[in-house]
Amino acid sequence: MNKQPESEIFTIPARRCKRCGGLLTSAKAIKDGYGSCCLRKVQQERRAKEEAKNQYSLFDREGTTLLRTCLFLPESAD
Ligand SMILES: [Zn+2]
Repeated sequence: MNKQPESEIFTIPARRCKRCGGLLTSAKAIKDGYGSCCLRKVQQERRAKEEAKNQYSLFDREGTTLLRTCLFLPESAD
């Protein structure tokens, strides 16, 4: 009977990105709730909303970019 070598099994904290659903494994991403590229987009969206109050045309241009979701990229553990 074969037994799985337990030393090769790891449990790491992970969560899903609140924006794209990608798996997050870095401590920072877990804390933020977003992957690094989604965090940037979320911040960009917040800023765009603020700017939209003053300048509608800018929001329109930014909105096109923000509709794209980020590609899932494996995060470097740092
Ligand atoms: Zn994401």
